[in-house]
Amino acid sequence: MTLEIVFIGIGSNVGDRQDFCDRAIALMNLLPLSQVTGVSSYYETEPVDPEGKQGENWFYNGVVRLETSLKPQALLDILQETERGLGRDDAHRGGPRAMDFDILLFGEHHIAQEGLTVPHPRLHQRRFVLEPLAELDPACMHPTLHCSMSELLEALDDTSRVTRLPLKPGTKYPSRPGCAVSPLS
Ligand code: AMP
Repeated sequence: MTLEIVFIGIGSNVGDRQDFCDRAIALMNLLPLSQVTGVSSYYETEPVDPEGKQGENWFYNGVVRLETSLKPQALLDILQETERGLGRDDAHRGGPRAMDFDILLFGEHHIAQEGLTVPHPRLHQRRFVLEPLAELDPACMHPTLHCSMSELLEALDDTSRVTRLPLKPGTKYPSRPGCAVSPLS
């Protein structure tokens, strides 16, 4: 079973945003065949949807580094179920969101299938993704653009506001060991 390093973007712009992010990290710690090995700071970020569908609510964003033997589709399925468990409103996916997960990078894999594109196609255009990703792993290489995250951040022309918060991410809920046996087999 191959162990892959995966970077997952998290974001919340409704209710207690810090609490939703802390819960999301605690739940990722419970994923089967997986371990959270890094978490960026939280950043408060301006909504950037050009259609303005996400409303006025600013986000808390961060990036989590996960080592996992889950397959990409299985990971996406679990993350989407977790979004629903945290109260995400599927009927209004463009609206305010309790939790949004994006699979940013999955090892060095290129994935282009129905419902899953990796590397995430807008990763390199978004300050709210690149700031936390470059904080967590500045030397990490983008597998198709062949630039490091710190180089992508330096070249970025996204001027939306992103402020690093003096908070301790993911410390609110104690983590427990992940399950050693695949529930999917
Ligand atoms: P969003 O509303 O931003 O959460 O977008 C979710 C949709 O994007 C879902 O239909 C996913 O199947 C799809 N999607 C495509 N690529 C990815 C990815 N790398 N990470 C998360 N969702 C993805």
